[in-house]
Amino acid sequence: MSSVLQVLKCKCPNCKKGNIFSNLGNLLFFRAPKMNSTCNTCNFKFEKEPGFFFGAMFVSYALVVAEMVASVVLLRFLLGLSFVYVIASVLIMVLLLSTFNFRISRSIWIYMFYKNN
Ligand SMILES: [Zn+2]
Repeated sequence: MSSVLQVLKCKCPNCKKGNIFSNLGNLLFFRAPKMNSTCNTCNFKFEKEPGFFFGAMFVSYALVVAEMVASVVLLRFLLGLSFVYVIASVLIMVLLLSTFNFRISRSIWIYMFYKNN
C-alpha cells in the first residue's frame, strides 16, 4: 500500500524521498510538468534509456480510458445527466486531469521497471 502512495506522490523508487518532478505543471499557464533527470537525494537515473517514457503513453491512455468510463457511468447512469452534459463534463475532466495523468503515468512506468538490487 505504501508503494501505491509513493507512485501517487511521484517519489523516487530507490530512496522514496526524492521527487521525480521538479515542477508539477500548471494547466492554466500551459506549463507541462518538468521531470528531474536524476533523483536529487540518491542520484537514481529516472530515464533508463533514450525513449524510455514512450511506453508511459500506453499507461496514460489506460488511465484516461478508465477515468472516462468511470465518469460516464457516474454521470449518465447514477446521476442521470443528458448525453450532451455527460460528453462535455468528460471532456472538461480529461483536460483538467491532463497534467495529473502525465505525472502519474510516468511514475507508474518508472515503478514498473524498477528492480531493487
Ligand atoms: Zn532517490
